[in-house]
Amino acid sequence: MPDRTLHPETIAAQAGGTVDEATGAVVPPIHLSTTFERDPDNQYRRGMSYARPDNPTSRQAESVIAALEGADHACVFASGMAAATTLFLALERPAHVVAPRVMYWALRRWLAHDAHAFGIDTTFVDTTDVDAVAAALKFGNTRLVWLETPANPLWSISDIAAIAKLAHAAGARLACDSTVATPVLTQPLALGADVVVHSATKYLNGHSDVLAGALAFARRDSLAERVAAERASFGAVLAPFSAALLLRGMRTLHLRVRHQVATAAIIADRLAGHPAVLNVLYPGRPEFPGHDIARRQMQGGFGAMLSIRLAGGEAAAIRAAARVEVWKRATSLGGVESLIEHRASVEGPGSICPPDLLRLSAGLEHPDDLIADLERALAT
Ligand SMILES: *Cc1c(COP(=O)(O)O)cnc(C)c1O
Repeated sequence: MPDRTLHPETIAAQAGGTVDEATGAVVPPIHLSTTFERDPDNQYRRGMSYARPDNPTSRQAESVIAALEGADHACVFASGMAAATTLFLALERPAHVVAPRVMYWALRRWLAHDAHAFGIDTTFVDTTDVDAVAAALKFGNTRLVWLETPANPLWSISDIAAIAKLAHAAGARLACDSTVATPVLTQPLALGADVVVHSATKYLNGHSDVLAGALAFARRDSLAERVAAERASFGAVLAPFSAALLLRGMRTLHLRVRHQVATAAIIADRLAGHPAVLNVLYPGRPEFPGHDIARRQMQGGFGAMLSIRLAGGEAAAIRAAARVEVWKRATSLGGVESLIEHRASVEGPGSICPPDLLRLSAGLEHPDDLIADLERALAT
């Protein structure tokens, strides 16, 4: 277990800080074993029995994520979607949940179309409006309020502390998808959330080479226990190789995020005055609707994701994306390479994403190269 009195940078850089007892290795070994020996007295004193309920390499990644989030404990999953859906499926039924209108599209689609079959009913509201959340809560029936802040793909900001109070007063828990904020910029549990959700595929791993998800819990309660049981039953576990890559990725989390945030802020400022750009959506811009809340609940920056809406509409957006050379035209976010995408094309039918919008994930390249590339692509 990492020493929680140390700074998060220290814990992440040392992958939790434990040296392998058997060999002295400072890089944690990858435990591929699917099964673990029983003690002669029929117990499992070393804590592992089989790799579906638990795995030592995943456990190490979990201990780092828990430390970074100030959580009691964390659970890693095969993907962010596996983490999110496992949390919903662990709720007591019937379950009413409140979720944002603007949120990660694949999860919104699952909640809107597939979750009914599992006894889960979702009310979608504008979670940037605290009163709208209050009006959607059903006392005694609402089990979970889901937030994503900043939220894909408009980077809308929801007030975690205010909504945590409302949710708790209604007998509901608050889960916060903090994928874009990262533990570097926001600490949802300290603001009152009960569970933090990550697509660890994004900033936590940071190198676009691992699919992973995580839930970090404020306490070990009945919900957390059901989540662990469901993960073991469904088998939505993270493979040991992926857990080891995730641990390696997290060693540089703070460095990467701070650099990427600085680059995103420079790009947002540069594009704000560009004649081809109708609007820059970035929580760090003073005119952005959620800017004041973001100032309060994010520390050290406003994230490395931004979107731009083009004056020339959808055709101009697709044309600009086609012209970039340094930026890569691909979905996903949070990697070391900068990505650009025409978001509405990714989300497909039913998307609420404006068709003139390009989503940008700032990576670790030199900001001047990224800006020059965008300015070339936007030139008419
Ligand atoms: C990518 C993403 C997810 C889903 O994660 P996967 O690892 O792709 O399953 C969930 N929430 C947000 C905010 C994301 O960006």
